[in-house]
Amino acid sequence: MARIIDAPLADTGVCEKPRTSGQWGALDAATRRGLAFTQAVKEETDHLYELVEHVIPPVEWPAYAPLIAAINRLKRQKNAVILAHNYMTSEIFFCVGDFRGDSLQLAREAANTPAKVIVQAGVHFMAETSKILSPDKTVLIPDMRAGCSLAASITGADVRLIKQKYPGLPVVTYVNTSADVKAESDVTCTSSNAVQVVEWAAKTWGVDRVIMLPDEFLAKNVAAMTDIKIIAWHGRCEVHERFSAEDIAELRAAHPGVIVLAHPECPPEVLAASDYAGSTAALANYVGKHNPKKVVLLTECSMSDNVAQAAPMTDFVRPCNLCPHMKRITLEAIYDALANMQHEVLVPEDVRVRAKKAIDAMLALPRTSAPLDFEVGRALADVTVL
Ligand code: SF4
Repeated sequence: MARIIDAPLADTGVCEKPRTSGQWGALDAATRRGLAFTQAVKEETDHLYELVEHVIPPVEWPAYAPLIAAINRLKRQKNAVILAHNYMTSEIFFCVGDFRGDSLQLAREAANTPAKVIVQAGVHFMAETSKILSPDKTVLIPDMRAGCSLAASITGADVRLIKQKYPGLPVVTYVNTSADVKAESDVTCTSSNAVQVVEWAAKTWGVDRVIMLPDEFLAKNVAAMTDIKIIAWHGRCEVHERFSAEDIAELRAAHPGVIVLAHPECPPEVLAASDYAGSTAALANYVGKHNPKKVVLLTECSMSDNVAQAAPMTDFVRPCNLCPHMKRITLEAIYDALANMQHEVLVPEDVRVRAKKAIDAMLALPRTSAPLDFEVGRALADVTVL
C-alpha cells in the first residue's frame, strides 16, 4: 500500500502535514483568551523558541508564544507540572512540558514529583497511571476524549474471563490500558521492559506461559525474543498497525540508504523488514548514538519532530501517521485545564489500590541500563491470540 508515499511531500521529501497544533488555531485561541504577543511575552519565551525553530518558522512564533507564556505562569501559580509524552507536538513537548518521555519515564516522574497538580499531556490511560501513583495530587487531562485504541480494546471483565480460562497463569498488562484492566493484572509492562517483565512473571509463578494483554503485535514481537509462551489479546494500536513491509520497501526505494527504525507495536513483518526496533525511548537513543544520515521512525509523526531537535545532522523522512487521540492535546486545551482546573482524572480507590500493585511490581524490577532492543528479523513465534 502506498499510504506513506502518498503523504504530501515537500521538495525535501518531508511530509507537510502540520508539525504543530496549528498557528491560526493557536493565534485565535490566544486572542479569545485575551492573550497577546507583547514585548514581555517575547522576552519570556525567546529562549524556548530555540527549541522549536526546526519546526516553527519565526513568523508563526507570535501565534504560540502568548499561550506558552500564560501556561508557564499558571504552572508556577498552581504548583503544577506538565508530563509531556513523546507524541506531543513540539510546541507542547519542548515549551511547556516539564518532564518528557515515554509512558514508563512519565510514570516514574508522576510518582516522584513534589508538585500538587499534574497535567498529563498525553492520553487518558497515562493520566490514570499518574493518579494511581499519586493519589494525593490533582491530575488533569486537557481533553477527556484523548483515548487509545489499545486501551479501548479490553475491559476488566474481559481479563476476569481470561483468568478463568487460564487459571494459575500470570497476567502481564501493557501500560496502555485502563485502570480497571490494570487492577485485574499481576504486573504491568511497557515496550521498554516487556521481555524482562514476561520472563520475571514466568519465573516468579513457576510457569512456561504467561498472559500478555492487550497488544497482539507487541506480544508477538516479545514472544520472538523469549522462550516463554504467550497468550495474547487482539488489541492493536491504530497508528502502528498501519505500517507494512511494503511501506518499508517503498521508503527504501524512494530514499536509498535510509535507516528504518520501528516501534514494537508495529506488526512483526514490519520489524523483520526494519534495521532496528525498540520503544520510543530506544528509538530516540538509537538516533542520538548512531547519528544516521537519513532515518525514518515508524511510529507517531510528532516523535520525529521531537527527536530531530537534538539531531540536526540527521535527515528525517516522516511517514506521518498521527495519533488522533494524542492530537486532541493542544496548547489551548492545556491552558483551559490549568486556568479552570478542569477535566480531573479520578480512579475509584479500590481499583486504584489493585492497579497500583501491578504497576509497583513493574517499578520494583531492576532498572535496565537502556531500553530494550527488539531483535529484528527473528522467526515469528507461536502465540495464541484470543
Ligand atoms: S499511538 Fe497508539 S498506543 Fe499510543 S495513544 Fe495513540 S492509539 Fe494508543
